[in-house]
Amino acid sequence: MQKYEKLEKVGEGTYGTVFKAKHKETKEIVALKRVRLDDEDEGVPSSALREICLLKELKHKNIVRLYDVLHSDRRLTMVFEFCDQDLKKYFDSCKGKVDSNTVKSFMFHLLQGLQFCHSHNVLHRDLKPQNLLISKSGELKLADFGLARAFGLPKERFSAEVVTLWYRPPDVLMGAKMYDTSIDMWSAGCIFAEMANGGRPLLPGSDVDDQLRRIFKLLGTPNELTWPDMKKMPEYRDFPAFSAIPLASVTPTLSSSGRELLQNLLVCAPSRRMCAEKAMQHCYFDDIDPSIRV
Ligand code: AMP
Repeated sequence: MQKYEKLEKVGEGTYGTVFKAKHKETKEIVALKRVRLDDEDEGVPSSALREICLLKELKHKNIVRLYDVLHSDRRLTMVFEFCDQDLKKYFDSCKGKVDSNTVKSFMFHLLQGLQFCHSHNVLHRDLKPQNLLISKSGELKLADFGLARAFGLPKERFSAEVVTLWYRPPDVLMGAKMYDTSIDMWSAGCIFAEMANGGRPLLPGSDVDDQLRRIFKLLGTPNELTWPDMKKMPEYRDFPAFSAIPLASVTPTLSSSGRELLQNLLVCAPSRRMCAEKAMQHCYFDDIDPSIRV
């Protein structure tokens, strides 16, 4: 820790406080994340430490790089690549309008990062605009990847902020425990719509029931044909049979190919949700600047 000079606090995250810091010798600017643990007396569980150390190998331009893991006094500090702002702050600065080319390139970056992590069997499980960071050069990078598996999904006890359900898929809202990559693809769909709408969240539910109701009112309540396993979900609950609303009415500025991609991501049955690799090949991205692709 003595290697770094702590500068200002830049954020309060799911797993701890984030500080901007400078390496005393190299002058490199980094982000230090001090992780809060469930039980400080117990120290850092060795399983979490192993998981976190594996994340150091996850190197991709659309993933916030984890340079180092510092473990002392039963505390854990992660040293990350520093990024200038997050997508939530970016939305605030855009005053309700994000240029359609920017939406497209951010979405492509998001999918590229997801595809890379998913191909290495790492899930995010809690994607939201606050943990999508934007570098000086306008590249979108995913933060907090793999932390949910190491530390468990956050609960409210750590911060005053209520854990958001807005990006959570219906299977998880109904208690699914077998997570796979489809969980992140649903969140990517919600974030895509939010970007297209200049930062207005698509499904801002207030509790699990309200969240599911909003999803079904938009996409139509699933039935035996569209989601055969729904009734097997541990916390399945009955909803009225709502009919789907055309996505055009909730994302009016998105092109028809963009809406088609969105429709493929916002699929209630997890096994039918589009994966990152397929999404990157969607015709919505046909006219993207080739330099954006790796
Ligand atoms: P997180 O725990 O990743 O949600 O972080 C909370 C907040 O801290 C984010 O919303 C960012 O504003 C900021 N932050 C997190 N990681 C970084 C980073 N690597 N560089 C700059 N700011 C960060």
